[in-house]
Amino acid sequence: MTQAPASKTVSASRRRPKLAELISDDIKRWIAAESLGEGDRLPNEKALMELYGSAKATVREALKILEVEGLITLKTGPKGGAVINQPGMEPASRMLRNFLHFQQLDGKQVYQLRKLLEVELAVSVVGRLIENDFQQLEANMSACACCGGEEDHRRQRFLELEFHQLLARACPNPLLAFMCQFLNDMLRDLVVIKKAYVPERKQFDHANQDYHRQLVEAYRAEDTQRVRNIMAEHMADAEHHMSALETEMAAQMLFSGDSLHTHHHRSKLHDLPTEHVSV
Ligand SMILES: [Zn+2]
Repeated sequence: MTQAPASKTVSASRRRPKLAELISDDIKRWIAAESLGEGDRLPNEKALMELYGSAKATVREALKILEVEGLITLKTGPKGGAVINQPGMEPASRMLRNFLHFQQLDGKQVYQLRKLLEVELAVSVVGRLIENDFQQLEANMSACACCGGEEDHRRQRFLELEFHQLLARACPNPLLAFMCQFLNDMLRDLVVIKKAYVPERKQFDHANQDYHRQLVEAYRAEDTQRVRNIMAEHMADAEHHMSALETEMAAQMLFSGDSLHTHHHRSKLHDLPTEHVSV
């Protein structure tokens, strides 16, 4: 049975939540109400089964949902159980990629956002960088300047994006930091998968290095207006240099950043005899 895919314009139909989802939602309410934090434990499986009057499989499914969302870690053994985690950005990033995979996102749309957000982020970091941050930014710039030749171009693109990730780590607004890191991760993944090349890349690399150097100077001087101007110019320039490959981004959204580094672009499902694949 093949089902026609739902139209992109129609949001997912409102289905009735499964019991396990109701339980996982209820556990979240409890975590929030009790202000539970990293390392706190949930009641054991047996207690949850009694509390919700549910089968073991249902409670396990509810816990699994929380684990996939990054809210808990499930530990086995006599001292095991569900321990609360503070999720990193990975689960949120994965969900957002799943969503974007089916949208026709292109590089122009990414830069429409990046141009605004990177500038806001850059400004938010003025006066917050400590000496250790400056050292990391300068080490990044030195590494960037050392790159030469064809092979190094990828590395240079990574380093260029890493410079922006370093700034994001100092951002006091976690939402702004997340959005910028997410955009940078998408651009970084493009370099890995599609080997995105910028035609006049030498010129582009030099321009980037120059912008970074000027930014660090402006940060040292804590000159907010200059930081704003330089980052705005840097992003406008980066958009201008955006390669043709970066204009079609949607296809690789489903891969997580981690799986990219294994260079396994081929799915095991490709090995399946065609009669098992219904399209
Ligand atoms: Zn840059």
